[in-house]
Amino acid sequence: MQTQAYRQLDRDHHLHPFTDFKALAEEGSRIVTHAEGVYIHDSEGHRILDAMAGLWCVNLGYGREELVEAATAQLRELPYYNNFFKSTHPPAVKLAEALCRLAPAHMNRVFFTGSGSEANDTVLRMVRRFWALEGKPDKQWIIARENAYHGSTVAGLSLGGMAPMHGQGGPLVPKITHVRQPYWFGEGRPAGQDPGTFGRECAAALEAKILELGEENVAAFIAEPVQGAGGAIIPPESYWPAVKEVLARYDILLVMDEVICGFGRLGEWFGSMHYDLAPDLMPIAKGLSSGYLPIGGVLVGDRVAETLIERGGEFFHGFTYSGHPVCAAVALKNLELMQAEGVVERVRNDIGPYLAERWATLAEHPLVGEVRSLGLIGALELVDPDTGGRFDKSLGAGTLCRDICFELGLVMRSVGDTMIISPPLVISRAEIDELVSLARQALDDTERRLVARKQAAESPSREESRS
Ligand SMILES: *Cc1c(COP(=O)(O)O)cnc(C)c1O
Repeated sequence: MQTQAYRQLDRDHHLHPFTDFKALAEEGSRIVTHAEGVYIHDSEGHRILDAMAGLWCVNLGYGREELVEAATAQLRELPYYNNFFKSTHPPAVKLAEALCRLAPAHMNRVFFTGSGSEANDTVLRMVRRFWALEGKPDKQWIIARENAYHGSTVAGLSLGGMAPMHGQGGPLVPKITHVRQPYWFGEGRPAGQDPGTFGRECAAALEAKILELGEENVAAFIAEPVQGAGGAIIPPESYWPAVKEVLARYDILLVMDEVICGFGRLGEWFGSMHYDLAPDLMPIAKGLSSGYLPIGGVLVGDRVAETLIERGGEFFHGFTYSGHPVCAAVALKNLELMQAEGVVERVRNDIGPYLAERWATLAEHPLVGEVRSLGLIGALELVDPDTGGRFDKSLGAGTLCRDICFELGLVMRSVGDTMIISPPLVISRAEIDELVSLARQALDDTERRLVARKQAAESPSREESRS
């Protein structure tokens, strides 16, 4: 069988990203062969509703012929040329212009990269370079947040706040520190604090860190508008206004990592617009090309751009594929289609509110401790119905639920015991109904199997066999 052949070759030769190699070799991979709309298909004939849009990126859905044509035409015209050595090409220039038109008014420049991680490497170098050129070379510290995700290169890893990642491949880049995340549920819904108070406390933690390090040593604060990989964490309403107040008191750059929230996910072109923030830098990637080809970049505000341009001399940084013509042509077409089809407005006014309404119905399920969504990103917190708190970690509730989802024909990702969705922005109402119905079935099945696992764990015979 074809599937077995692929699995064997995969096992023999392919090391997957973010994967326990040995465990995967024992289980075998799912071979995804084709896709259309919001559905992927695997080599065993399953049709699976992709409620993660690949990895938060296939915003226009699969099988868009216009994007294929844009790529093909550009491959014929000019498959590659670089943007080094005083050269460029029409796709890079046109994409730069289109992006700056969509970005907040004070952002008029873009530096292209091949990915979100490279965008954050660029951020790190650009931020420190900016302050050096401003005559403040001590401003090097970057404040990020615990449980943030900013990519997997060394700079991305260091800026990110994921403890398990920090444990591998260090030492990390110096002078990066992390403050608490505005994750009310995940931080245990601290007693006596409503989400509003909690959000303001998290903003106060940022200010305390600035004071501890000394404003004269702090270069920037970096954050995702809504944390994605950390668990689709939508901060309390009070958080961003309070952070804005803090930042207004200090001369520190604001970097909003828009790799997930950019391009319509929250119902605005950028998450910063939803929260009315005016960042100095915005790393972008993922939805920029709807994932059809790898491309990322950093949108640069006027303050930073002017210093880099006027005082900078050569910026010794860039990638072979910075602004790759074929990737840029596809990204440009992707933005044109999003505009022509009113995709962002639809998320804000129609399909986002519809998802919120349908998704919220899952709150009644005994396994669900919290439901949240904003635009087309959402999460469910799994809890033990017996206690109302988290399940024992050894039960692996989140992973179990994710695996059951796959069996039922739904891609829903688990982050610990948080189930998350980030479907293509073009998902229809009927497909959302299907998504929610599959999620409900998955919760039922998960509950049934968890009860069995708990009973097995509690039964004395099992205890004996363990010891
Ligand atoms: C995915 C992601 C990145 C990294 O992007 P890659 O293209 O995987 O390198 C950075 N920041 C955020 C917020 C992301 O979600």
